[in-house]
Amino acid sequence: MSDFQIFSSDKNSLTATTAMKLGVSPARFANWRWQMKNQIRTAAEASVFVALDAAEEQGFQNDKIFNIAITPYAMSLMRYRHDAQRNPCPVRLQLLPRQEECLDQHGIADPLQEKHHSPVAEVVHVYPDRVAFCVAQLCPIYCRFCFRKRRDDEQGLHFNRRIIARGIDYIRSNSKIRDVLLTGGDPLLATDASLDALLSELRTIPHVEIIRFGTRVPVTLPYRLTAALGEIFAKHHPIWLNTHFNCAEELTPEACHGIDILLKNGVPVSNQTVLLRGINADNDKMLRLLKQLVYARVRPYYLFHPHLVVGTEHLRVPISTGLAIMDSLQGKVSGFAIPRYMLDTPSGKIPLTRQQLLKIDGQDAVLANNYGELWRERME
Ligand SMILES: *Cc1c(COP(=O)(O)O)cnc(C)c1O
Repeated sequence: MSDFQIFSSDKNSLTATTAMKLGVSPARFANWRWQMKNQIRTAAEASVFVALDAAEEQGFQNDKIFNIAITPYAMSLMRYRHDAQRNPCPVRLQLLPRQEECLDQHGIADPLQEKHHSPVAEVVHVYPDRVAFCVAQLCPIYCRFCFRKRRDDEQGLHFNRRIIARGIDYIRSNSKIRDVLLTGGDPLLATDASLDALLSELRTIPHVEIIRFGTRVPVTLPYRLTAALGEIFAKHHPIWLNTHFNCAEELTPEACHGIDILLKNGVPVSNQTVLLRGINADNDKMLRLLKQLVYARVRPYYLFHPHLVVGTEHLRVPISTGLAIMDSLQGKVSGFAIPRYMLDTPSGKIPLTRQQLLKIDGQDAVLANNYGELWRERME
């Protein structure tokens, strides 16, 4: 049975009902290329799905700040009406642009100084044994809190042959690199043939043991997870995959079907969540998300403290909020459902625990990293 038939068979499914509303067949709606051709980019297009609030209307006017594009699938997860202050729709806050993006006082363009840590273009080498390789530039959706907003302004980074060839040469010539994290952009926004070729090339390097994908397609474009893609992964094991669910509402039957294809093909699926105000920075919402993840057989891996990235002040929360949420989870849910709370810094990730937080100095938290160095992070 093809993947598309699965979604069309249930007339009440999200796929079938949204397709009907848009006047397309469920099979077309469930085709990832159709989703990409029909990305929502304007307030008028978004209004087919939701009643925009004033700040969202304004956000669509500020399209110079950061790319705006949302798949019809993700639009269909949004509540038609919401109150952004008192009862926000967590999907809307993540994906629809808002006026507040223009008001951020502290955000910076490249919080991880990734350019500085790239010995060749798009290969971020911070840890001795692993690299993040940004092979993609495009995404099905531009999440408003993205920490790689800066890449938006550059052209031609998406599956660029020369960049990929140079990155592979770098990995080949560094025998300490045993773990390659393919990221972007979204690295699954490529043809099956390009992904197969990239994985085949990496598999000619003897010291590369594991290959990981960092991708949000299970959330933004689950139809990309086809049986054919699963078979490609199965040829190149060990392949791991980290995805990025931020709220329970994102774990739809469509998303779970995509995850099932990955698992059936032997790809372990883990999740990285970003702690965000109004979306998951709340004891109950976080607990619900974690329970849904393990029910879908996705292992919670990291809970990231939000990056200090431009245009996200309205979504950031203090470290004290994150620590309190982590405390609240103890004993409430299976041990393997609890992620590690992490701060991402230019010199690597620091686990955010009460032991690692040395002191609070005015606006700043002072933390010790794994190398015994101190790191200062704005608390708010
Ligand atoms: C996060 C990250 C990795 C992977 O780190 P893990 O903690 O092993 O998941 C690798 N390289 C860079 C530059 C990273 O930021």
